[in-house]
Amino acid sequence: MAKKQFKAESKKLMELMINSIYTNKDIFLREIISNASDAIDKLHYKSLTDRKIKIDTDDFASKVDIDKDSRTITISDNGIGMSKEELENNLGTIAKSGSSAFKEENDKKENIDIIGQFGVGFYSAFMVASKVSVTSKAYGSDEAYLWESEGIEGYNIKSCDKEEYGTSVTLTLKDDSDDFEYSKYLEDYTIQGLIKKYSDYITYPIKMETVHVHDEKEVKEEEVINSLVPLWKRNKSEITKEEYDTFYSDKFFDYEKPLKVLHFNMEGVIGFNALLYIPSHAPFDYYSKEYEKGLQLYSNGVLIMEKCADLLPDYFSFVKGVVDSPDLSLNISRETLQQDRVLVKIAKAIESKIKKELETMLEKDRETYEKFFDAFGLQLKAGVCANYGMDKDKLSDLLLFKSSFEDKYVTLKEYVSRMKDDQDIIYYACAESESKARMLPQTENALSKGYEVLYLTEYGDEFVVQTLMEYDSKKFANVSSSETDLDSKEDKEELDKINKENKDMFEAMKKAIDVKEVRFTRSLKNHPVCLSSEGMITSSMEKVMNAMPTGQNVKASMVMEINENHAIASKLKDLYKKDKKKLEKYSKILYAQARLIEGLPVENPTELSNLVCEELS
Ligand code: ADP
Repeated sequence: MAKKQFKAESKKLMELMINSIYTNKDIFLREIISNASDAIDKLHYKSLTDRKIKIDTDDFASKVDIDKDSRTITISDNGIGMSKEELENNLGTIAKSGSSAFKEENDKKENIDIIGQFGVGFYSAFMVASKVSVTSKAYGSDEAYLWESEGIEGYNIKSCDKEEYGTSVTLTLKDDSDDFEYSKYLEDYTIQGLIKKYSDYITYPIKMETVHVHDEKEVKEEEVINSLVPLWKRNKSEITKEEYDTFYSDKFFDYEKPLKVLHFNMEGVIGFNALLYIPSHAPFDYYSKEYEKGLQLYSNGVLIMEKCADLLPDYFSFVKGVVDSPDLSLNISRETLQQDRVLVKIAKAIESKIKKELETMLEKDRETYEKFFDAFGLQLKAGVCANYGMDKDKLSDLLLFKSSFEDKYVTLKEYVSRMKDDQDIIYYACAESESKARMLPQTENALSKGYEVLYLTEYGDEFVVQTLMEYDSKKFANVSSSETDLDSKEDKEELDKINKENKDMFEAMKKAIDVKEVRFTRSLKNHPVCLSSEGMITSSMEKVMNAMPTGQNVKASMVMEINENHAIASKLKDLYKKDKKKLEKYSKILYAQARLIEGLPVENPTELSNLVCEELS
């Protein structure tokens, strides 16, 4: 008997399947099982709408059988089955998708969930099988048919015997090759693992006969492999914390309990269930390129994507979890994801839910939030700086900073609420640690004037405030910036005068060191000297930028400020008159000291050591 030919487009798809466009062959089982579940859904629906049909819905199930001798896996179901024509139409062509036609027809009447609007599902069998046989008996018919194909060449259909209605799909596995070991699919545990991984939450039982040893005898037992109702679809009030935690650790392989569980569902034009987790610590690879963000994406209990990145913005990339929507089509691909209207809507809803949750945590459970921030604050800060600050307004209220106010984190909102009446600037100091930031002469000055100072101690922190530019219309200013002016007008005028008088001395000092300017200041209490930066690039930014792989040897423009009230000031004036060589030496020593206070490296430590020794001996 001559083989029937596949329709042209089916042939093309099959070719792709056989040559594996999906590198993940495992998914064949998910596809076949979801077809079985679909077929059961259809009969289930029919039984609900046609009184003549009497079926015990508890019997609905699919079954997976493995036969090692014949190298076959059989997936059978007691669903609606297929007539000869349906076998021909449904499996001979992909252009017409049975379940989507069925869905359209019935959509208006009642909301029946039919998994799958596959275009490719069934053909994925050919990724692993050299031969596929389908026997099927449509519900209500006495005739059964066998459809068989060994691939591209075509298929045959003939009548056969089959007692029960429903469908059995038998895959004869390909021979093992150097590239792939198909025989692994003949192992119970492999198949069970795949069912658990991809089809766990199919709403009808998936049964398998498993062998157990009882009193040294092998006993075969039928076992339901899937857990039927997914945790995320269960009622929140019936789920214990332990169940949530176990699910988290099993699914996301985290040894620590999650910090927060978010379980919610949305109803409306687009409906979905989500079960999300905020981990309590960053995974070891979190801040590396290897880390892949994403949520598991299900369409009605069928896993369609392990990590759907488009569901999470980068700044919330730490969130783990599961999203399930009946409104998603199963044939969604990575390429079409971003244009998928449903997915975009879901992602938006998820983002705002996470943000709200974090805000509530910050407000109501500060301790937990601070723990969260210690783990993932860096990611939020990166989010502020990313894309030229596009998302900064969404994130600014979630940031925490150390501050002079008290020995713990503060928010920008808290800082602003405490600002003095005449204060319109948010002051910050940069250093490697809070104690170093506190000891900066410029910090001391700001504190003595009664201003609160934020201590930016982390790598890149200053970029964050520079990207924010302002908060609540208050600009940020580095206490070490020469533009930050804490002195009164009279003070300034007097100082200007003194600086002018000593202009020539400063010029002489500048020759010895690499600064833009040297001048006197009165804002240093007891310290002899400090460095302030002029312009956009401050000394802390210089450090960060030069540490970057693309570091282009950035230099902050520095001003060396000398305490006019310190004994060193008159000493310098004296040297300028009597010993210009020594003035140069002193300039170098003072400059090195100022760099050390700022946490900057001394450019020539040997020279400094010699200079200091000369003065000591
Ligand atoms: P899709 O499921 O997206 O429609 P498939 O290629 O997986 O695409 O299946 C094609 C069609 O074959 C299905 O729509 C369905 O009508 C039919 N079919 C596949 N498997 C079964 C089954 N186990 N029972 C009944 N019909 C099936």
